[in-house]
Amino acid sequence: MHVLIVEDEVRLAAYLKRGLEAEGFAVDIAQTGTDGLWMATEQEFDAVVLDIMLPGMNGYKVCQSLREAGNWVPILVLTAKDGEYDEAEALDTGADDFLSKPFSFVVLLARLRAMLRRGQSERPPVLAVGTLQMDPASHSVTRAGTPITLTPREYSLLEYLMRHPGDVLPKLDILGHVWDWEFEGDPNIIEVYVGYLRKKIDAPFGLATLLTVRGVGYRLVPDA
Ligand code: CA
Repeated sequence: MHVLIVEDEVRLAAYLKRGLEAEGFAVDIAQTGTDGLWMATEQEFDAVVLDIMLPGMNGYKVCQSLREAGNWVPILVLTAKDGEYDEAEALDTGADDFLSKPFSFVVLLARLRAMLRRGQSERPPVLAVGTLQMDPASHSVTRAGTPITLTPREYSLLEYLMRHPGDVLPKLDILGHVWDWEFEGDPNIIEVYVGYLRKKIDAPFGLATLLTVRGVGYRLVPDA
């Protein structure tokens, strides 16, 4: 098992390397985020132990860049307890597990082994409705291969629609999923965003796939 440790604290990195080697792992160390990203891209590792606060490029960015490039190597993120980032964020960027510093080597070893047993994380499937495609792993959207740039809110709205292709989605359901149930603003906000989406996913392609169902809500249908 070949593990990459991306950690700028030299003594901690050396301590982990010694410990893991004693357990039979082959270990490489990168001391900056940029080196870590480069090494994980150039070589195939069975797992990556990734610190968050790193010079060059932080661990979140490294993790995100690997996932965006389609690299699904299992990643265990090391977070500082009172750090600027939290654990939810670590998982959000596509990490498989996280461990708060300080941690004991025994715990790290157990988590690493559990992660290796599970193997490569599942790449979330690409959503498609007709020629419209969404890749939740890289947050990218295309229509017939043409990239479409969306704001985060437009993206969430489209994702909800694409997860229920052809279904009529009541406005209240959309509000609850894309905004949140506490939303107390004007529900017509949906109409505004549906308008934005049509200008991006339909109009430039001469299509009308995001339909209004009068008095009810909206539905997304495949283009012919
Ligand atoms: Ca660090």
